Amino acid sequence: MLILGIETSCDETGVALYDSDHGLLSHALFSQVEMHADYGGVVPELASRDHVRKLLPLCDQVLAEAGRTRADIDGIAYTAGPGLVGALMVGGSVAHALGFALGIPVLGVHHMEGHLLAPMLEENPPAFPFVALLVSGGHTQLVMVSGIGEYQLLGESVDDAAGEAFDKTAKMLGLDYPGGPRVSALAQAGRPGTYRFPRPMTDRPGLDFSFSGLKTYTLNTVTDAEERGALDEQVRADIALAFETAVVDTLVIKCRRALEQTGCKRLVVAGGVSANRSLRQALEAMAVKLRGGVFYARPEFCTDNGAMIAYAGCQRLLAGQRDGDRIVAVPRWPMDTLPPLGEPRDN
Ligand code: ATP
Ligand code: MG
Ligand code: FE
Repeated sequence: MLILGIETSCDETGVALYDSDHGLLSHALFSQVEMHADYGGVVPELASRDHVRKLLPLCDQVLAEAGRTRADIDGIAYTAGPGLVGALMVGGSVAHALGFALGIPVLGVHHMEGHLLAPMLEENPPAFPFVALLVSGGHTQLVMVSGIGEYQLLGESVDDAAGEAFDKTAKMLGLDYPGGPRVSALAQAGRPGTYRFPRPMTDRPGLDFSFSGLKTYTLNTVTDAEERGALDEQVRADIALAFETAVVDTLVIKCRRALEQTGCKRLVVAGGVSANRSLRQALEAMAVKLRGGVFYARPEFCTDNGAMIAYAGCQRLLAGQRDGDRIVAVPRWPMDTLPPLGEPRDN
């Protein structure tokens, strides 16, 4: 079954072709980061309009790269949420229009399920069940995953997401969006132990996270250094390292707890922050101690992309799930309300 995957939930237009027998055939991504840079954040209306401009050309591009035509497509998967409603509507409209014209099934996919399943596109995919750490720009969650659509939320951030904290820290340090990779690069030059930042909510039981206090702590540290006239390149690097280490430590502590609590040996890490090298290394070291394994996607499939949507959609389309005539666009959508593979969807 050849599936066209479409991702337009935020500021990235992602398209991919996934074949259930032959795997990923092609994928393409256009990032709007530069367009939004002048505004200091994503401008929803500009995002929607740019998806309109880029989506069909990218579809043609992935078909050409795979040596296929529209007539070869057996189904279309698009991101139906969570995300910016206007941006989601662009992907949903194109998916439904193409699906109607070609007479093939169409399915709205959950963006975080896409992230969660992205490691399945790699050579050594994790088997079910596993614990998943979803760490992205909008989410920080620990989920017990027994199968596709069988999700039990173990814990989540009560305020900011980890990626959001990286982005805000970047801003404080004068770095551009997306902040994660830039903070991480700056941290390379940091001197370990110069600062020690708090590990929020690790001193009490439970699997929830909180990153807004850490953000304030970072701001206070930056402001203090500034007032002392000490905020040079070295101190900025020291702060970046202290921040990154605190986030990584916190995530690792909670992941270890989740593995111990569930008795699970496999940990999947997905979402933009899972591209972070320090996080990967620290999780691997932890998993070795527990005699477990850590799984993640290649860096380009950690952040938003069409391949993860094509893959997730393919699994559900193969199981017979599909949209009705209505375009589905759900800005807020808890992942644990998704049905398992064998059950029909109500949208
Ligand atoms: P969501 O998926 O929750 O809707 P999103 O789609 O905006 O949010 P992603 O595209 O998954 O998020 O990831 C983007 C986030 O990942 C940004 O916050 C970015 O700073 C962060 N990120 C990307 N690479 C790294 C990295 N190497 N280290 C830390 N953070 C990173
Ligand atoms: Mg993004
Ligand atoms: Fe995302």
